[in-house]
Amino acid sequence: MAENSQERTALVIGAGIVGVCTALYLQREGFTVTLIDKAGPGETCSAVNAGGLGAGSCSPFSLPGLWRKVPGMLMNRLHPLSVPPSNFLPATPWFIRFLLAGRQRRVDEIADALLTVVSNIFEAYEPLVTDAGAKDMIQHQGRLFVYTSRRAFESGRYERNVRSSRGVEIEELDGDQTREIEPKLGPNVVHGAYQRINGHVVNPKRLVQVLAEHLVRSGGTLLREKVTGFETVTDGAPKVVTETASHTARLVVIAAGAWSRALAAQLGTEVPMQAERGYFMMLPDPGIRGPLQWNDKLLAICPMEHGLRVSSGAEFAPVDAPPDYDRALANLRQVDGLIPGLEMRELERGMGARPSMPDSMPVIGACPGHPKVLFAFGHGHIGLTLGAVTGKLIGELAAGRPTSIDITPFRPDRF
Ligand SMILES: Cc1cc2nc3c(=O)[nH]c(=O)nc-3n(C[C@H](O)[C@H](O)[C@H](O)COP(=O)(O)OP(=O)(O)OC[C@H]3O[C@@H](n4cnc5c(N)ncnc54)[C@H](O)[C@@H]3O)c2cc1C
Repeated sequence: MAENSQERTALVIGAGIVGVCTALYLQREGFTVTLIDKAGPGETCSAVNAGGLGAGSCSPFSLPGLWRKVPGMLMNRLHPLSVPPSNFLPATPWFIRFLLAGRQRRVDEIADALLTVVSNIFEAYEPLVTDAGAKDMIQHQGRLFVYTSRRAFESGRYERNVRSSRGVEIEELDGDQTREIEPKLGPNVVHGAYQRINGHVVNPKRLVQVLAEHLVRSGGTLLREKVTGFETVTDGAPKVVTETASHTARLVVIAAGAWSRALAAQLGTEVPMQAERGYFMMLPDPGIRGPLQWNDKLLAICPMEHGLRVSSGAEFAPVDAPPDYDRALANLRQVDGLIPGLEMRELERGMGARPSMPDSMPVIGACPGHPKVLFAFGHGHIGLTLGAVTGKLIGELAAGRPTSIDITPFRPDRF
């Protein structure tokens, strides 16, 4: 795919964390880059996440036996999993694939593949945040998983083993040891599991914006346009058509998060992606030391520069459907049962659509039938974690070099 220098032009669709990191890595490879977004950098899912950088997050979300728990989850209004009745049928094929991905052998294959990418995240972010002057936006305080029941602690054992058996260090703790790490936790915490290797971003939206500003300062172009389709050309990548213009480049990257499915379909590739929507609210931060995950309620809690972010939600609704804040906030407000005295004053709220694949793995590689179009989407729950690694891999593919990580497990035609 390497071209001579005057032909090194690339167009990246989507300025979320994946698109921005991809654009920066393409720029580092010598490409003249145009980044197109309908909303602006970091306005969608990449702005609303829990901030976690899961350097050990190699466990897929579908695990053996999960299918038995799904009906109970769907019946519980306070459970993060929800499927609006109108989306039951459209989402069924995705759920079948999701449950099949939870077979023991497949879990092992997926975890092995994910480990290769998650274990490189800090190295991949390093040059980007250094150049952008944003090194301090990535913190390394680990992640403390907390449990208020022995049952939740025991039922998390399988997933912890998936990680620890692959070398991810996890310290199992009793309630007092957990409170030593995070003294604001209440007396109802009976267990903890500390994963020191994890990091977090102190403001995910600002990170995307700072990286996009750096791209432009370094000669890149940022356009606020909505891509509506493609026009095939005889040589090179298809022309990218927006609501107001059309653009040509030698290379096109689709990094449009949960909207990528529709764009890929226009080029003849069907990917089984679902929008898995999640929600957050910001509260005043009482001085929480580092990211927490309350596993009994599946709430992520992260101290950020502008408050304490509480996030959750796995709502399988159409990507552009209006948010259901009533249900989501009822779920998030349970956080007051974990941190006594927490001031429940909502400073901000938001919703984002995760681009989720049924096997919990991203889609990275050339579009079938269009070698000059690369896919960089489908990062589900770990898109902030993987943004820079994916960008680096796309940069290597674009430069015509062998990728530093085997991307076969992530190929677009694996389904
Ligand atoms: C509540 C919640 C918590 C999360 N917590 C974490 C976490 O702790 N750690 C982690 O690693 N991940 C987390 N995630 C997941 C992570 O946020 C996503 O995987 C990631 O943001 C996806 O990034 P993206 O760049 O692929 O997509 P997006 O951020 O959605 O960006 C896609 C961009 O494409 C643009 N676009 C779409 N269609 C078009 C078009 N036709 N024309 C032009 N532009 C277009 C959109 O405007 C958007 O800006 C969380 C997600 C949620 C919802």
